[in-house]
Amino acid sequence: MPFADFHGNDEVVRSIREMLARDHFPHAVILSGPEGSGKFALAQMIAKTMNCLRQPSTDGLPDFCGACANCARIAQADPLDDRFVEAVEARENLRDADKRETRILVQTHPDVTIIPPDPPQMLVKVDQVRHIIREIYYRPSEGRHRVYIFSEANFMKEAANSLLKILEEPPDFATIFLLTNNPSALLPTIRSRCMHLRLSPLPPEAVERYLATARPELKPKERALVARLSAGGLGRARRIDLTQYLAARQDALALLGPALGEKDHSDLFRVTDSYRAGAEGKAKIENSIRTLYALLEDILFIKSGTPALVRNIDLEPQLRKMAEQVNFPWIVEAANRLGELESGLRRNLLRTLALDAFATSLERST
Ligand SMILES: [Zn+2]
Repeated sequence: MPFADFHGNDEVVRSIREMLARDHFPHAVILSGPEGSGKFALAQMIAKTMNCLRQPSTDGLPDFCGACANCARIAQADPLDDRFVEAVEARENLRDADKRETRILVQTHPDVTIIPPDPPQMLVKVDQVRHIIREIYYRPSEGRHRVYIFSEANFMKEAANSLLKILEEPPDFATIFLLTNNPSALLPTIRSRCMHLRLSPLPPEAVERYLATARPELKPKERALVARLSAGGLGRARRIDLTQYLAARQDALALLGPALGEKDHSDLFRVTDSYRAGAEGKAKIENSIRTLYALLEDILFIKSGTPALVRNIDLEPQLRKMAEQVNFPWIVEAANRLGELESGLRRNLLRTLALDAFATSLERST
């Protein structure tokens, strides 16, 4: 029952399967939706259905078996992060001359190709698109339909222009998917040549129900928190590391402490002192900044009378107290300072100093 494994967005999934049933699937599709909403999982399911050797149907609509040779080979790319890391490592191990010639692609089945953004810029490069142009007009070899999935459709300018050429005249037997959480960033000329399918975030209750089976180790209160932190994306809900999140949040609260009238700064200094140089410190501070934004947003939700949107629901009483202590201009100021902190850190300001400055600047502005 493979399509049945896709949770939520039932109407979008149904219309996709109806198009597959009519054998009228569009040749260029923008599949948009927030992070973790299942864009890639859905594109893979479509690729499998198009190429499944058994072609089962469920609820009277096309499905895929998940077990035939084509389904199995396509499924090897399901854990895309792993395949991506392998592709990048394989390139790293090449001689310099070959390295420059090698494009990052994931192809576990000859007719299904995934084009991830190319590191370190994490943009799709023109050579990746040229590779597609070279092969897309050949008939599928082991399946019935060629599928190209741009897993994050952020293109370098030249790459976007090259892509337009294929989108103008794609062959009948090929479909190109552009996955994005920000479709408005795509060129209008690209958007106008694609059908646009949108995945919506799921309501927190639906994510909670899903987590009850997907992450049975979580207690009900933890499920409620993770569901809200996931912003309606099941993939994100599966990946959230709650222990790490709670640690980052503890630090974020310590950073806000002085601004909210905490006279004892020892917590603050303990926290900022723990942010050392190096990759680990960088990841840690990025987590805390993201958490700080989320806390500020929650305070804003309470102040603007929409407490149902609060994500840190386990902290609601504390957040309400904070909301009473600050006004809207303070929240705006805090968000601006956070932005300054972020860009300061990109310029490699000494981390502990930047954090201390951030916390104390908020204190002055209350
Ligand atoms: Zn199959």
